[in-house]
Formats: sequence, structure tokens, C-alpha cells
Amino acid sequence: MTAFYHLAAQDFDTTFAQAMMAGTYVQLPRCPMCKTAIRERVAPLVIEWDLGSDQIADFTWPEVLNELVVTERVRSAFLAERFKGVGFEPVEMIEKADLRRPRNRAIAHNRVRLPYDGPPLWSLAVRSSCRLDLEKSGRSLVRECEACKRTRMIVHDSKATLVIRPESWEGTDFFRIQEMGGGVFVGENVRNAIFEHGFTNVDMKQRGYLPIASKGTF
Ligand SMILES: [Zn+2]
Repeated sequence: MTAFYHLAAQDFDTTFAQAMMAGTYVQLPRCPMCKTAIRERVAPLVIEWDLGSDQIADFTWPEVLNELVVTERVRSAFLAERFKGVGFEPVEMIEKADLRRPRNRAIAHNRVRLPYDGPPLWSLAVRSSCRLDLEKSGRSLVRECEACKRTRMIVHDSKATLVIRPESWEGTDFFRIQEMGGGVFVGENVRNAIFEHGFTNVDMKQRGYLPIASKGTF
């Protein structure tokens, strides 16, 4: 059995520069029934660096765990490994003048300055997605709105292993799981590469097993 992992930021690490999303989304009309605002992601990824540090980690997380910005080091290592299901897109950076200054003057000066002249940064694009076997994963989906088909996940067992539907699995090293929002999941090979290269500000939480060896036996 081969495990898969959810990529996450390193908890409570303030060593590295943090970024926020700026732009990147286009607001679509609200659902006429439930009034929920839907937004669509449009390339390129636009970020703004926060005050606090000017050290860029190998992984930066501008939108919870759903958007990953990686260094050129990460891109070239992943390309060399020929990982499947992943691509790299440009990142744009902006700097608004009205950013609030923290009270601590020492950290106020630390910020990634623009124009940025370091090694290129990349938006990590995940190009494969699969489906969850909800029942086996201890979850269920409830339809919240009939008009926009919005659903809400109910987690019956938060410790349950996530089980992927084998027929939905494209066999890639990187993938998203449709029912799990924007999280990025990777196989053992990617995890090993991250360890070997010692990439910073990335953590991996084991969530389940890939349906590789078991294909056909389900
Ligand atoms: Zn709706």
C-alpha cells in the first residue's frame, strides 16, 4: 500500500515571509436563491508580501492551503523527477502603499521588497483531480442549495482514512480531491523528494492510501 499526503504549511513558523492573495479572483453573480457569492480563479496568481520577514521559503501559502507558491529550487527538482499532475505558472507581485505598520518597528522593516529581483517564483498548478468514496471516508455531503448545487461536507469521523474512488484516479503524483476543496495531495515519491531536498515551510500529513496496487480488486 502506498500512502498519500496532504501538503500543508509548517505550523507557527514565522521565520518566513507570508503572502496574501491580491486579485486572482473574479466575482461572479450571486446565486439568486441562496445569495452565495461565487468567485472564479483566473491566472495569474497575484500576491502581496506581508510585513514581518523578507525571507522567502520554498513553499509560501497565500490562500490557506489551497494556493502554493514555490521557489525555482522546488520547480527544477520536481521537473527533474518528472512528477505527473503538476505544472508551474507565473506569479505576479504587487505592493500597496496602505499596508498597516505593526507596532514593533524592528519587524516593520522586514518585507520582501519590489521590484522583486530574486530567483523566479511559481504558482504550483495541480492538473489532476479524483473523487472520494464518501462513505468509506466517514463523510457525507448535504445539498445546501438546489439552484447553485452548493454542498456542505459532514465529517462523521475526522480520524477516518480518506478513500479515493479507484476509477476516478488518474495515477498522478499530484492531485486534488473534488470533495476536499482546494487541498493539494501528493504521493510517496513527492514526499520523499521534499525530504531529500529539505524544502522549507512545508509539512505533509498522511491522509490515506492510493488505489494503485488494489486496482481491479475493489
Ligand atoms: Zn445557491
